[in-house]
Formats: sequence, C-alpha cells, structure tokens
Amino acid sequence: MSGSISVGNVSAPRGERTFGYLNAGTLAGGTEVRIGVQILNGAQDGPTLGLISTLHGWEPVGAEILRRALLRVDPKRLRGRILSVPIANPFSVEFGGTVESAGTVVNPSDQLNLNRSFPGKPKYAWLTERMAYLLFEQVIRQCDAFLDLHDGTGANKMMPVGIFLRPEGLVGDKISELGRALGAPVGNERMDRGQYPGALTIEAARQGIPGITPHMAGGGMIDEYVEPSVECVLNIAKHLGMIDGDPVYPNRQIVVSDYLVYRSSTGGFLYLEEGIGVGATVRKGQIVARILDPLTSEEREVCASPFDGIVTMARIRLPINPGGYVCHIANTDSITWER
Ligand SMILES: [Zn+2]
Repeated sequence: MSGSISVGNVSAPRGERTFGYLNAGTLAGGTEVRIGVQILNGAQDGPTLGLISTLHGWEPVGAEILRRALLRVDPKRLRGRILSVPIANPFSVEFGGTVESAGTVVNPSDQLNLNRSFPGKPKYAWLTERMAYLLFEQVIRQCDAFLDLHDGTGANKMMPVGIFLRPEGLVGDKISELGRALGAPVGNERMDRGQYPGALTIEAARQGIPGITPHMAGGGMIDEYVEPSVECVLNIAKHLGMIDGDPVYPNRQIVVSDYLVYRSSTGGFLYLEEGIGVGATVRKGQIVARILDPLTSEEREVCASPFDGIVTMARIRLPINPGGYVCHIANTDSITWER
C-alpha cells in the first residue's frame, strides 16, 4: 500500500480526508446522479474499511451515524483507509414517503431495491443496477471488511442490532467476528441459505469480502441510540487495528439465532402495550401491541410475542398498513454467544 487511494475520480493522498462524488448517470431532464464519498487515507498502513448506508432510503440515520463516527477519526493517526458512502442511494432518501417513513425502500427512478441489485451491471442495465455496479467495483472490491448500515425505518426506534448472514467457509468466520466486534447489545446470526439474492453483504461474501448489516437507530431522528451506534462503528475500526482505544461494549451482549421481524397482518392505528418499547423483556404469549380501527376503536389485531425475548425495535408511528413493522424481538431461548 502506498500513496493516494481513489474511488472513481475521488482520491485522497496519505494522511488526508477528502469528499467527492461518483457519477452514476444522467436523468432524462439532465439531472446528474451523484453518489457522495468520503475517503480517509491513513498516514500509516492498515486494512481498508468500507462504510455504506442508506441502500434503503427510508433508513437515513446510518448516514448521521457515519458522519459523527468519521469526525472522530484523524487520518493523520489512522492505520489503513476508510471509504464511506453515507448516501449510497440518494433518490430513495430524497423522494417518496410512506407510512413507514420519509424516503422509500426502492429507487424512484426504476422502482428497484438497491440492496437486491448487487453486484450490479455496467450496461444494458437499470439505473439502480448501474449504481450497484459502481458501488461494488469502486468501493467494495477495495475493502477488507465493510459495514452496510440500516435503521429501523422512519416508523421505528431501534437499539443497535448486528445482523449478519453467515455463508460457509472462511469468510463466514470473518463475518461472525465482525458481528461480535460491533459490540451491539443484540446480534442475530443466521446461516446464508440464499434468502437475500443480490444483497450487498451476500454478494460481497461470494467474492471473499466480509461485511455485516448493522440495524441501528431509526425514526429519521436523533435519539438515545445514535451515539451508541457511533461507538459500534468505531468498535469495528478498533477491532481491525485502525484506530487506538478500547472497544465500547454494552453491559451485556448476546447473539441469537432466532429473531422475529414482527409485521402486522392488518392495517389500522397501532398502540404499544404499557411498558413495551425498545429494550423491554417479554414473555412468550405476552401482548406487545394492539391495532385498532381508527374510526370505531374495534380491535383488529392483537400482537403477542411467540417466545421469551427482548424487544429491539418498536414502532413509533400510529398508522400501520398490512405488513408494516410492529417490532423486532430477539428470542432469548436461542442465544448462541454472550459477553
Ligand atoms: Zn434496510
């Protein structure tokens, strides 16, 4: 490793931080599609860490977490390089808006999900596939490890949760290591059984590049989970030996194999039960929320936990449509690792 490092046309000399844009194309009316990049080129040798967020634009808080984390990294003291793409899917952040949030899960230009479009295509391709190709070739291929930050969407508050799908082999071991090093209070490790074709972490693992998808904070706002999430990002840089300092771990850290994304069967207004929120401990069968008819108060759905667990994400929005997120619950009978 020597000299400057480049991502597309953006480059940073040794010991410097630079900002710039990747050009992904031009829309019908001439609007340029630009993806912002921050590069920190450390003064000393070390690994290359990729930091990606907002592949899903309705999850914008990752960009704020990365902004804060990188203000705390001095490239003059950094060992290695950090390639950060906080607004990886700009149109999905800028446009749209549903009951789930501001922003959309897909790119409004072609309605494709960027996190199902990797490794992408350079030509004869939709814009989202071209963006995926650009990110994969210019950023991910240079990385020794990466984080792909998601949040609870604009509809939910969420504690930091390290979600990682583990493929077979050596890269799977590295992914597990990253998942633990993140230091989120809850991790969910599942085997990769082809559930998410085209997802960034899955396609990168096929190329031998380990990455995980932390889901941290949410609601499109700054809350008490943002700063702990910043520490999680910095924990990874510490784990890789890139920055000094002891990792910051929670009082208790668990990894579970069973993790429920509780989605509603019906629409209405959602009311969490008394005492239910992020961090709440629940018992099997305990009611966590009710969905009522906003006109008649009729109870349309009673949401109960199917196991003993910890609520890691909880809805903060009243209206919910069928399939909307009620909460996430980590099954505490499925703990596979603990610190
Ligand atoms: Zn997401």
